[in-house]
Amino acid sequence: MSFLAHSTYASTPEELLVMLSWLKKIVNLSSQTNDLKGVLSVQNFLAVYFKNLGFKAKLIENPEADSAPLLSLRFDRGQKEDISFVLHSDTVNSVKEVGGFHYDPSRDLAFGCGIADMKGGIVVLMNALKQFLNRRVPLKYNLNIIVSPNEEKGSIGFHNYFMKMGIQSRYVFCFEPSLECGGIIGSRNGNRWYNLKTYAESFHTGRTAKGTMNSTHAFMHTFNELYHSINEFDDLKFNVSSLKTCGDHYNKSSASLTAKIDVRFIKNSSLEFFDDLLHKSLRKNSENRFETSIVDDCPSMSAKTRDLLLEQVYLRDLKKQEGKAYKVLHSEGCSDINYFQSFNNICLDGLGAVGWGMHEADERIRASRLLTRSNSLEKALVYLCR
Ligand SMILES: [Zn+2]
Repeated sequence: MSFLAHSTYASTPEELLVMLSWLKKIVNLSSQTNDLKGVLSVQNFLAVYFKNLGFKAKLIENPEADSAPLLSLRFDRGQKEDISFVLHSDTVNSVKEVGGFHYDPSRDLAFGCGIADMKGGIVVLMNALKQFLNRRVPLKYNLNIIVSPNEEKGSIGFHNYFMKMGIQSRYVFCFEPSLECGGIIGSRNGNRWYNLKTYAESFHTGRTAKGTMNSTHAFMHTFNELYHSINEFDDLKFNVSSLKTCGDHYNKSSASLTAKIDVRFIKNSSLEFFDDLLHKSLRKNSENRFETSIVDDCPSMSAKTRDLLLEQVYLRDLKKQEGKAYKVLHSEGCSDINYFQSFNNICLDGLGAVGWGMHEADERIRASRLLTRSNSLEKALVYLCR
């Protein structure tokens, strides 16, 4: 019996059942980031679907890291500017680890690997674009869909491509799950991750004079200075997520220390302040015997350019359908859309599924919200082409 013909689903609207059948298909195509074949099978499924809607598909190999190719789809209308839709087909877990698709209509919930992050979001866009293009509204923008194969590992290898697409886009919409309250995302923190190593002489702790500086002391001084100096920056925080010394003794100080420092910020000026202070403080406390390297550097997505009317169109329609007023809010985490923000484009994220338990075994979404979110997105697109 086909999914749509199942008698248990009699109360589910047919349009939603179609979306759930797509969702079942792509959730069950297990696509953990390192499973290159699995990720490619999702890319291929999406390429076929969107080609049928009139998009041209291109698979782009990763120039830097080992991953499946990125899927780039374009609906070119010869316009000056684009609307870009940002998706990712990879998941943190595999279907084998956390289970495949399961729909419980009595609780209006659907479960499965990566169902919120972000296979539900993929389906929201699939349906919205199908409905929107069926209306044959004259397009004022070219449309791009960019599907990262390795977002859960930071989309390494594709940042330059994202920035390029961001510059040519007037609007960028991303389909990460909404916030848990159902609100959508107007700004996101950026992050920078430092690896730090400091060096000092190793010495006999009993025989050396009081106050002699070793690498651990030097780091603690630096940490204190950073901790107190960033108080006045509301948008800036940092964590030392790992700290190791090369030695593990009493009686002898450690010659070197390594640390991982994780910085989160909204304003670039705050990051610059932190970076400057970190290096000044290290120069002073470690007497220039240190190395820093940046392992991840994701810009923030700020809310400096907004389209309030567009937000109103989307949120008003959502309220009509879901009976609840939502807001555009800030999210602490980063996503691919951070790389797309340019000086004059408008970015919105959280347009995907409404769900919970991301990256966990009980990841789940409110099934009916797939359709309402998709309908409101379609309304927003019609508004943009008015
Ligand atoms: Zn995601």
